[in-house]
Amino acid sequence: MPPLAPPVHNRRVTQSRWQQRIQRAESLAARHAFAAEMLAFYAKIARFQENLYQRLEQAAKNKVSASGPPELPELLSSFAPYLSLVAEQGPAHVATVAHDLKNSGKNSWQEWLNDCWSAVEQPPAEPREFLTLAFLQPYAEFVRSRVPLQLDGYTHSLCPFCSRKPGLGVLRQQGDGGRRSLLCAFCLAEWDFRRILCPGCGEEDYKRLPVYTAEEFAYIRVECCDSCKTYIKSVDLSKHGLAEPVVDEIASVPLDLWAQEHGYAKLHLNLLGM
Ligand SMILES: [Zn+2]
Ligand SMILES: [Zn+2]
Repeated sequence: MPPLAPPVHNRRVTQSRWQQRIQRAESLAARHAFAAEMLAFYAKIARFQENLYQRLEQAAKNKVSASGPPELPELLSSFAPYLSLVAEQGPAHVATVAHDLKNSGKNSWQEWLNDCWSAVEQPPAEPREFLTLAFLQPYAEFVRSRVPLQLDGYTHSLCPFCSRKPGLGVLRQQGDGGRRSLLCAFCLAEWDFRRILCPGCGEEDYKRLPVYTAEEFAYIRVECCDSCKTYIKSVDLSKHGLAEPVVDEIASVPLDLWAQEHGYAKLHLNLLGM
């Protein structure tokens, strides 16, 4: 039986998603001076990512590569301009790292990209790892979008596509309550996850799972766990429908400072390393 509606073309959906993130970053930057520099930097990265995504799509169609994934040559040739962009326009500490990575020589890049792509069990810690994962992110979204994910009954706390930890949560209205889903810190896959359950250690006693909010970001919850001392931020779309979770997560950096001052460690840092 044919499908009722033709499948939605990936690129159209994804393009508008990048643009939404960029516009949201610009609008939040104008409102929150403390996050303006990071958001402006994020917007530049997101523009590059969108562009790279489109070129990867094209490369996949052309299938020019003799061995390895057809997108590999495009990835490798895009890394230098990416590093230049960050070196020239990123915040000082990241710019230096990009500059050094660029000078490390093209010959080492394929292995380095591969290492970052495959380092699933070890969350990124070094600025050069975050920087590289941000570069690879559109590729991860691209590959994931072509693989049907089996999410029915999926209850784990790790990403169903790349097995990394979630970087944030999203809450949506459902009936009288809210439904929580988690977003992968790398490939941005989204999957449902029980609300009263720690994605870090599986704690399910609500008394050990305090939730904090602050007036400035009333639609973002800091969901903590007193058992494993981690936290994750969840963006409540039922309270703020215009939020772009990935971007609002970056903008709400005062909540991270607060949580960390109170002894909680972020479950997985975002790709700006925050
Ligand atoms: Zn993932
Ligand atoms: Zn926990």
